[in-house]
Amino acid sequence: MTEMLISTEPATGAELWSGAIGDVDAEVAAARAAWAGWASKPLTVRVETLRRFANVVRGRKDQFADVIARETGKPLWEAGTEVDAVVNKVDISISAYSERTAQRKQEGALGARVAVRHKPHGVLAVLGPYNFPAHLPNGHIVPALIAGNAVVFKPSEKTPAVGELLVKLFHEAGVPEGVVRCLIGGPDQGRALAAHAGIDGLLFTGSARAGMALHRQFADTPQKILALELGGNNPLVIWDAPDTHAAAVMAAQSAFLSAGQRCTAARRLIVKDGAHEEVLDQLRRLAERLIVDHPHATPAPFMGPVIDNASADQLQEAFLDLMMKGGRPLKHLDRHQEDKPFLSPAIIDVTDVQERADVELFGPILQVIRVPDFDAALAEASATRFGLAASLVGGSPQLYDKFWANIRAGVVNWNKPTNGAPSNAPFGGVGISGNHRPSAYYAADYCAYPVTSSEADNARASIGVGLRDPYAAANELEG
Ligand code: NAD
Repeated sequence: MTEMLISTEPATGAELWSGAIGDVDAEVAAARAAWAGWASKPLTVRVETLRRFANVVRGRKDQFADVIARETGKPLWEAGTEVDAVVNKVDISISAYSERTAQRKQEGALGARVAVRHKPHGVLAVLGPYNFPAHLPNGHIVPALIAGNAVVFKPSEKTPAVGELLVKLFHEAGVPEGVVRCLIGGPDQGRALAAHAGIDGLLFTGSARAGMALHRQFADTPQKILALELGGNNPLVIWDAPDTHAAAVMAAQSAFLSAGQRCTAARRLIVKDGAHEEVLDQLRRLAERLIVDHPHATPAPFMGPVIDNASADQLQEAFLDLMMKGGRPLKHLDRHQEDKPFLSPAIIDVTDVQERADVELFGPILQVIRVPDFDAALAEASATRFGLAASLVGGSPQLYDKFWANIRAGVVNWNKPTNGAPSNAPFGGVGISGNHRPSAYYAADYCAYPVTSSEADNARASIGVGLRDPYAAANELEG
């Protein structure tokens, strides 16, 4: 019997989509059969096809945003910005390809020319998360296609409708059906795809837990590219902030946009003990005003539900656990309907919690930590195995220099939220937030490998030193 996957809307519980679990072997075989044809097309043809894809997506923005909003629960306005990001990714990836992986020629030794060119890997697997189910996989797929790879994309089991639609739009734009495949399924299909002999690499965005499992799985295949974009336990430090309102707004945006379901969301707010009561008070009052509602509600909500009831249950348990360990709620994590995953933004002071767990709470929970001085703030901000994003709000240029120099993260901001990173710059983390294969503008780097060639029009060669004289033996005999 065919196994089915059903996707429901987090906001209503209504069934949105259902489809059969895919066949890993068949999808990989289709991509393998198609990739050589795609790779041999001139770059201009691949680029033109992707520009058409951008136009197709632009023309279907309303439908696409509606599906994203329904399937993730994020507000319709935010889903619209995700569609814009899908469109903008095409031009950004074309520039990135030519800047980072274009052909280069230089003078070599003895009149040779040295050429550096890039080749695609072949068939790349892409595994996507649910929080940006179109934008993040697209951020791997578009650069992979420009470079000449074929792709087998497995969307998150929580967002198959968005994944399937994204792939349909590639096909509608003229990308051959074999060149981008959609594999429906969950972690089992993800594992099987990652282990498949027919793939040449895996581009992964998701949790550190799954990323580490994949890293182990790839230990015996160093010849395959593995790019891991993982989670964070991101600090936001507010220090000597003269504009308390702006500081509170930035903390709310950092922690609660997308219901806290962003890899770059601030999880820990670090403040000078006693100095920022006004900011905390404004943040609490602001959090109380943030509208949490259905994605299509009027007035438009700031945030929707989290992805499902299981996630909401886990977040509630984590919040209770912090309270049991001595955390003092400044604003509780409320759930007004037990059978729906709508959570209110929550703030909890965990200064007195001993041995705080260094985990990513992927939802609208902000933990506040009070420290005596800036060195303690830096130590607290760095007390994590992750290293994705970090922000300082307030302070002087000298203080920011100190923050920048001492913090270990791939995104370090000043007077800006932790989230909302620009797509035309590299994006990735250190620590367990990734494996040094940054995405976004640097995605071009992991979608193709460099080939160095020394080339001359004619073969001319001689050995100048270290040769025995061919007449020496004869001369000796004659002598
Ligand atoms: P997840 O790790 O649970 O799942 C991601 C994808 O991997 C899904 O398609 C899933 O089916 C698959 N998968 C899960 N376990 C697997 C395994 N062992 N082997 C193979 N495939 C497996 O992540 P999620 O819950 O969908 O997404 C949220 C996470 O993603 C958060 O940790 C968030 O921080 C992270 N994230 C990171 C970035 C980034 O760019 N660094 C961006 C967005 C989200």
